[in-house]
Amino acid sequence: MKLIEEGRNFGFDTRQVHAGARPDPNTGARAVPIFQTTSFVFEDSESAAAYFDLKEYGNTYSRIMNPTVAAFEERIANLENGCGAVGFASGIAAQVAALFTILEPGDHVISSSAIYGGTINQFKHQFHKMSVEVTWVNPDDLDAWRQAIKANTKLFYAETIGNPTGTVLDIESVAAIAQEYDIPLMMDNTFASPYLCRPIEWGADIVVHSATKFIGGHGTSIGGVVVESGKFNWSNGRFPVMSDPSPAYHGLAFHATFGMYAYLMKLRSETLRDLGAAMSPFNAFLFLQGLETLSLRMDRHVQNTLAVAEYLDQHDMVSNVMYPGLQGSKYKPLVNKYMPKGAGAVFAFDIVGGRQAGQDFISGLTLWSHLANVGDTKSLVIHPASTTHRQLSIEELADAGIGEGTIRLSVGIEEINDLIWDLDQGFSMVKKTT
Ligand SMILES: *Cc1c(COP(=O)(O)O)cnc(C)c1O
Repeated sequence: MKLIEEGRNFGFDTRQVHAGARPDPNTGARAVPIFQTTSFVFEDSESAAAYFDLKEYGNTYSRIMNPTVAAFEERIANLENGCGAVGFASGIAAQVAALFTILEPGDHVISSSAIYGGTINQFKHQFHKMSVEVTWVNPDDLDAWRQAIKANTKLFYAETIGNPTGTVLDIESVAAIAQEYDIPLMMDNTFASPYLCRPIEWGADIVVHSATKFIGGHGTSIGGVVVESGKFNWSNGRFPVMSDPSPAYHGLAFHATFGMYAYLMKLRSETLRDLGAAMSPFNAFLFLQGLETLSLRMDRHVQNTLAVAEYLDQHDMVSNVMYPGLQGSKYKPLVNKYMPKGAGAVFAFDIVGGRQAGQDFISGLTLWSHLANVGDTKSLVIHPASTTHRQLSIEELADAGIGEGTIRLSVGIEEINDLIWDLDQGFSMVKKTT
C-alpha cells in the first residue's frame, strides 16, 4: 500500500493494519510472509559490494536486516511518526543499542528516576563499566533536568508513563529544555504504546519500546524496537561519533552521508552488526499481528483499567491508587494533554496491612495471573516486595516508590465484572487471614 503516494493521510486504525505491508510480489500472499532465512543471494558482485559499502540498501544477512522484520519496522515507524525504526531481540537489547550508538566513555546521561528496574540496572551496572555517568532526577521537576546538564551530557532519558508509580512526563517541556542545549530526548513509550501517545509529536527524538508488551499484546514473544524522528541535528558539535569519520565503518561520516537517516543507519550497520541482538523473523510476524489490533485492544485495556482503578479507589482496604487516569490524580492534566485516549493499563495500588496482606491478596486470586510481565490480553498481578524487589530494604523500596503493601496490576481485556469478582476474592482472603 502506497501510503504517501496516494496523497491521503490514512488514520491510525488503517495504518496499524497496512503500513509496511504489501502483497508479496512473487506469490501474491496477502499476509507478510515469514522470511525464515539467514541470508540473501546477491544479484552480482557489484551490487554485493554496494550493499557492504552502504551505497545501496539491500538484504545481506538476517542479523542486520530481514524482510519480515523490515515490514514490522516500517509499520511501527509509521505509527510513531518517526523516519524509520530498527527491531531488536528484546526491549532491553533495543535500549542498550540505542544508547551504545551515541555514548562514549566519559559521557553523561540525565535520566528520570521513575523508570523500569531493568533500565536502572543497565545504567547502574553495564553503562557504569563503560564509564558513562548517570544523574537521576525526579521527572516532574523541570529545574532538576536543567540543573543537571553538563558539558558532556549526551542524553535525556524518561518513560511516558513511569513504572510502577504512574508518573506522566511533561514531554513538551522536558523536550524544550533538551532542545535548548542540543541534547536528544530518548523516551521509553512501552506503557503507552503509539496508540495512546506519540512522544515524537511532542519533541522527543528517539523512542524505544519493549514490543514484548502491548505491541505483541498476547504475552507470546520477546522483542524491542528503536524509532527515530530524523529531526535531531547530529552535527551540532556534541556528537563526533555521528559527525566524524567512523573507524567502525571504514571512515564513513554518518551524518554527512545519510542526513536524517544517520542515526538509524549507524544503529543498524554498526551497533546491531556488532552487538548481534537481532529480532527473529517469526517474532516480527507475531508483532505485525499484534499491531493490527493495537487500537482495539488498547481501548478495552483502558476502559477496564479505569473501572478497576475506580473500584479500588473506593475500597476500604486500599490506601492509595496510583493510576494517572483517575480524576483525582495530580497527573490527570498531563494525561488529558498527552494521552487523551487513556493512561494505559498498568498501575500500582497500596493495600492496607503491608507485606502479609499483599501476599494473602495475591493468593486469593484465581483469574489474575501472578507473574512478572505487563501488557498481555490476560490480566496480570505482582507483589513487588515479596518478588521482584524482595532483596531491597524498606528504605530502598521507598526510594523506588514501592511500599510493603504495593501491588502492581496489568489489566487485560476480559469481562470487567469477572475481573472485579476476582479482586473481591483477593480481599476476602486478606480478611480471612487477619
Ligand atoms: C519490559 C520492559 C522493558 C524491557 O523489555 P524486554 O522486552 O523485557 O527486554 C523496558 N521498558 C519497559 C517499560 C518495560 O516494561
